[in-house]
Amino acid sequence: MTATATRVLVLNSGSSSVKYQLLDMRTASDSGSAAGTRLATGLVERIGEETSRLVHTPLAAGGARRETEGPIADHEAALKAVAAELAADGLGLDSPELAAIGHRVVHGGLEFSAPTVVDEAVLKEIERLVPVAPLHNPANITGIRTAQALRPDLPQVAVFDTAFHTTMPEYAARYAIDVATADAHRIRRYGFHGTSHAYVSRRTAQLLGKAPEDVNVIVLHLGNGASASAVRGGRCVDTSMGLTPLEGLVMGTRSGDIDPAVTFHLKRVAGMSADEIDELLNKKSGLLGLCGDNDMREIRRRIDEGDQRAALAFDIYIHRLKKYIGAYTAVLGKVDAVAFTAGVGENAAPVRAAAVAGLEELGMAVDASLNAVRSDEARLISPEYARVAVAVVPTDEELEIAQQTYALVNA
Ligand code: AMP
Repeated sequence: MTATATRVLVLNSGSSSVKYQLLDMRTASDSGSAAGTRLATGLVERIGEETSRLVHTPLAAGGARRETEGPIADHEAALKAVAAELAADGLGLDSPELAAIGHRVVHGGLEFSAPTVVDEAVLKEIERLVPVAPLHNPANITGIRTAQALRPDLPQVAVFDTAFHTTMPEYAARYAIDVATADAHRIRRYGFHGTSHAYVSRRTAQLLGKAPEDVNVIVLHLGNGASASAVRGGRCVDTSMGLTPLEGLVMGTRSGDIDPAVTFHLKRVAGMSADEIDELLNKKSGLLGLCGDNDMREIRRRIDEGDQRAALAFDIYIHRLKKYIGAYTAVLGKVDAVAFTAGVGENAAPVRAAAVAGLEELGMAVDASLNAVRSDEARLISPEYARVAVAVVPTDEELEIAQQTYALVNA
């Protein structure tokens, strides 16, 4: 890495998509760490199909968003197409200014509690974790290998979704099942969305004008996937997702918490296979299973029109959320802030209002007019008198990955 290398490319590789952002990490923030200026952002989707699409926005150049459609055969072709778009803006991946490529990796198991420079041994470990993340880790590995081939001289850094949760105490991470069986199959609670929980809990502390070490935060990451975490003094002590992202809150298409007996009951009485039950609970449940819609905007629209199914789905969603707020209040003992983030948490004021309604005894309340304000900024929505701050904190996983990547290669 040369002294001028301050850019980080962040890649989030899915099975048929690649999301990317190029950031310049030169700018120093108040805290002294790199802040990150976004230079370009984009996405390739439907990789492997005839109708692949690349959407590229060159933010630094102030250029207009460019969209190209046409077959992109695989991840290698996708990354080459991204590189060509960046080069057209004078931001080519061959630039000496590129310091590293940061990759989102979903499952780091117990092995990875921090961002890690990727070598063959690290790739083998990520590969060993495929059985516990069959949908995500293979795509992440493909993304890393493709980027390595493009710039073999450059550090490739893996930033794990599970890493932030590795501080969970053993009593929170273990399921109460036979220890030998659990250990033989790596069955324990890992948690996900860790990059978001890390970023949002830190940003919430900043919003309160405090150091992360001095605050306890309940983070509610409510997107299509959803998870809650209890963060004590900057360290995660509990989170709602478990071995896989299926556990916990009601989500767009996932059931969240369920009696495990439902699974063998379905096998015995409905003759469903493991794969069918997996599909039912991960893809056909949650809000979608309850009312036929998984988008909170549509659900709110239906409720406004008097739709009872949508209203019940919403109530079930909120009831679970409330239970986790209560549980994590008990886990933390003292809560300084509850932070809402991700697509639903950042945008759906009725969800925030309903989740906190009736929790005055826990010191939590939402100010209706503050809650109604639409903004991209981190902000407080609780009234002055409330003992616990309630905040909306837009998440920024790419920035967090870029910061962790840049810090590691400069360490
Ligand atoms: P994410 O997974 O974080 O991208 O969140 C996606 C989800 O956010 C969508 O499925 C919607 O349910 C939700 N969402 C996005 N915008 C809004 C909005 N304005 N109001 C309510 N929900 C929203």
